[in-house]
Amino acid sequence: MKKLTLIIFLAALLGLSLSSCKQAQDEPWFKLRGIVVAWDDIKNPDQLDWLAKMKETGMNTISVCGFDYLSDEYAQFKQKCIDNGIDFEYEEHAMTWLLPRDLIHEHPEYFRMDENGVRRNDANGCPSCEEALEVIRKNAAEFAVKYAPSNHRYYTWLFDGGGICHCEKCKNYNASDQGLIYENAILEGIRTVDPEAVLAHLAYESTTPAPSCIKPSEGVFLEWAPFYRRWDEPLSNRAAIRPDQKWSHGDYLDMLEDNLKVFPAETAQVLEYWLDVSQRSGWKKPAKDLGWNEQTKAAFLDDLKTYASYGIRNITCYGVYIDADYLNMYKDVSCITDYGKALRDFRPQK
Ligand SMILES: [Zn+2]
Repeated sequence: MKKLTLIIFLAALLGLSLSSCKQAQDEPWFKLRGIVVAWDDIKNPDQLDWLAKMKETGMNTISVCGFDYLSDEYAQFKQKCIDNGIDFEYEEHAMTWLLPRDLIHEHPEYFRMDENGVRRNDANGCPSCEEALEVIRKNAAEFAVKYAPSNHRYYTWLFDGGGICHCEKCKNYNASDQGLIYENAILEGIRTVDPEAVLAHLAYESTTPAPSCIKPSEGVFLEWAPFYRRWDEPLSNRAAIRPDQKWSHGDYLDMLEDNLKVFPAETAQVLEYWLDVSQRSGWKKPAKDLGWNEQTKAAFLDDLKTYASYGIRNITCYGVYIDADYLNMYKDVSCITDYGKALRDFRPQK
């Protein structure tokens, strides 16, 4: 009798673990399935309803850039997203906000020193200046209250390109080290108002190579943005390179691997440009055709495999300029559906 009870118990346990296994397999590999759009792209939902398309294809996170943060219309849209189960976050270059430019008149030491020893307020500051870091912590906390995301994920990106600090204390730090010193301080500031906060370290342009000596604080995650790659060839084609650029896809993959030795893969996020019509249009309207076809779609699908092979489970992508005008001009926004569904349905091959 006792034996029978044991057998039943073991069988039930096996059934339970098989069902939790199956459940894990049924869940999308990519946990964050996001899109970054502009206010112009979403403001005419009667013509192009981004929110409906996101729900239909299982996208779960949106960031809206280039907007009036304080408008009622914007706040209503944010609430509508949240009510529909879609996380709302802010991905922006925020350094001019965190370290106001006019502080240079009283505190030139807050700002970067160029190669000629001149302090400049044209990009990021001097990350070795503790007083400036304190200003940044305080402003980061204010920023976090004003622009609170619904998912505790913050993206107060540093300056968009530009030079780094060459002062005596900073001269051995590369651009990523300097960025990371700021990001560690920014996260400290944000956590005074949101203890669950996590913060992106944007690996983009000069910060694409991994930090050389500074370590990320717990909660600083890698946001990988291969801005100068090609989108008609997959990253796995290591020889592919844009004619005007210095980094091939192989260089990008090597730099991604280097970054994943510093940042955990499980929290890393990709910020891609597969659907970025604004990039293809040189950030000037009228929008050009994205050129979504069998080749670009295949490259995108292959990239998902590549990113998953590194253990990356969070992906977002610019979709800027895919708006009502774009739909009227090109009559096709199947790229949105293809993108959302592929992220939702992707499962790594055993
Ligand atoms: Zn410095």
